[in-house]
Amino acid sequence: MTRAPHQILVIEDEQGLREALRVLLVREGYRTIEAATAERAQIEARNHKPDLLIVDLGLPDGDGLELIPRIRAWSPVPIVVLSARTLEEQKIAALDAGADDFVTKPFSAPELLARVRAGLRRGARAPSGDVPLGFGAIRVDLVARRTHGAHGEIHLTPVEYRVLESLARRGGMVVPQRVLLREVWGPDRAQDTRGLRVFISSLRVKIEPDPRRPRYLVTETGIGYRLCPDDPVDAAANAGASLER
Ligand code: CA
Repeated sequence: MTRAPHQILVIEDEQGLREALRVLLVREGYRTIEAATAERAQIEARNHKPDLLIVDLGLPDGDGLELIPRIRAWSPVPIVVLSARTLEEQKIAALDAGADDFVTKPFSAPELLARVRAGLRRGARAPSGDVPLGFGAIRVDLVARRTHGAHGEIHLTPVEYRVLESLARRGGMVVPQRVLLREVWGPDRAQDTRGLRVFISSLRVKIEPDPRRPRYLVTETGIGYRLCPDDPVDAAANAGASLER
């Protein structure tokens, strides 16, 4: 049985890098479409409905951070950001804008390909059923893939949701970093605890009353993370253990 190859839209204004990405992806059996500008990218995305987007953040006619929400407005296509930017807040901004993942330049071919595979797996994953999972005021609906807090729906990026889902499925049990990494990104990225912390931080901003003193999503220093029930005693006990960096 043969399946049609996945189609990937590469949005990158540096011609040499664009060509290198094309060679790399075609060698892996993917089909590629290319765009050198944000405007062209939107046209190609609409015309071809690719399976995944690789988006450079620095484009001549606009920031990738502006392009991503425009794509997100009509498509759930997996988006992998390619960026020379190393600041965590800029990566979080890309994820908040709707990107699924990021690769920082300079990147290795195996790293990029691993992100592409992970993105394609996520794009193909069927929703799994279960009753809503709760912790404190937070409810995670695994069927609808939505999260609600005390003040209504909490809008999470796809990766944020997967981290929360992975944690929520274990109730209050600790989830080791490597388990979380494997479930969210696959085995290729099992060492990227720094990347995980970026998503834990952005999740806390969205679900915690005080993100600097987490009460729901707490760190087990040196082990991993857990979701805590809304218990003031637990919250106080965990506050001291949840400082990072
Ligand atoms: Ca660029």
